[in-house]
Amino acid sequence: MSIKLNSGYDMPLVGFGCWKVSNDTCAEQIYNAIKVGYRLFDGAMDYGNEKEVGQGLKKALDEGLVSREELFITSKLWNNYHDPKNVPIALEKVLKDLGLDYIDLYLIHFPIAFKFVPIEEKYPPGFYCGDGDKFIYEDVPLAETWKALEKLTKTGKVKSIGISNFNGGLVYDLLRGAEIKPAVLQIEHHPYLQQPNLVEYVQSEGIAITAYSSFGPLSFVELDHPKALETPKLFEHKSIQSIADAHKKTPAQVLLRWATQRNIAVIPKSNNPDRLHQNLVVNDFDLTKDQIDEISKLDIGLRFNNPWDWDKIPIFA
Ligand code: NAD
Repeated sequence: MSIKLNSGYDMPLVGFGCWKVSNDTCAEQIYNAIKVGYRLFDGAMDYGNEKEVGQGLKKALDEGLVSREELFITSKLWNNYHDPKNVPIALEKVLKDLGLDYIDLYLIHFPIAFKFVPIEEKYPPGFYCGDGDKFIYEDVPLAETWKALEKLTKTGKVKSIGISNFNGGLVYDLLRGAEIKPAVLQIEHHPYLQQPNLVEYVQSEGIAITAYSSFGPLSFVELDHPKALETPKLFEHKSIQSIADAHKKTPAQVLLRWATQRNIAVIPKSNNPDRLHQNLVVNDFDLTKDQIDEISKLDIGLRFNNPWDWDKIPIFA
């Protein structure tokens, strides 16, 4: 199943997320995910594993398991490359690392511009802005970065463009000046952080939504995020468990279906073959309206991925 993007392309409703996939197992995991049936791979410069993602893709392509046209590859422009002159430089690096001549979707990772760091100096730079651990910013309005992404679509190296971690105000403002509407907004979205107004507004504008961290705190426990450690696990929540039992599905499948049933794409990852398969097969059952309403009640506005925690950057303040 897929979502028809406003760019005309189809985006699979379920994909494989590449964040925290370690470099030594990454190529194999991508290859295995393709074997299991995944076609969308959600990567980013910042994940530091695009070379290995590319190796996994290459193995599957060389063996004829899939064709390039069947794959949907996403990457994200990191914060240090927002200046329009650096946007194409960053894309060239992504394409070289992935070993591809185009990507399907290029997102602005965060609505935050860090000072430029040359690729030769540090790649990916992460939070490095040229001076130890000091955050240094660049005065680049998002509209300028967006124009640079729009230009990339004309080169054929990027099929669709989009944004990530934008709040409603930023999406609203971007649409005032955009020549090409974002095809996708990627956001943190799980029962503890539902953002219903943002979802309604963005979908009403014909922009597709991709949810990340669909299992809520789970992804942040391994990062020792204090809020994740103290929040009850969604898999063990009695509402999620009873809905899972009613459908003879796992809590993970219920959480993913809760999104896909509302036409929101999901991008979980796992290196466990059973879970890999389980996460992909989530569209063969429907939650009832009562079950969706019950999950809606779990919203506590709890965000785990917040740049306020980096350097008091107020995009969600
Ligand atoms: P995730 O979906 O990968 O899930 C978190 C953990 O759940 C994983 O560590 C995995 O081991 C475990 N898991 C997966 N399937 C399971 C199952 N069926 N049963 C039990 N446990 C299971 O979470 P995530 O990495 O936060 O998000 C997914 C993807 O979203 C990332 O890989 C990345 O591509 C994207 N993402 C984007 C941003 C952004 O800023 N745009 C931020 C975070 C993540």
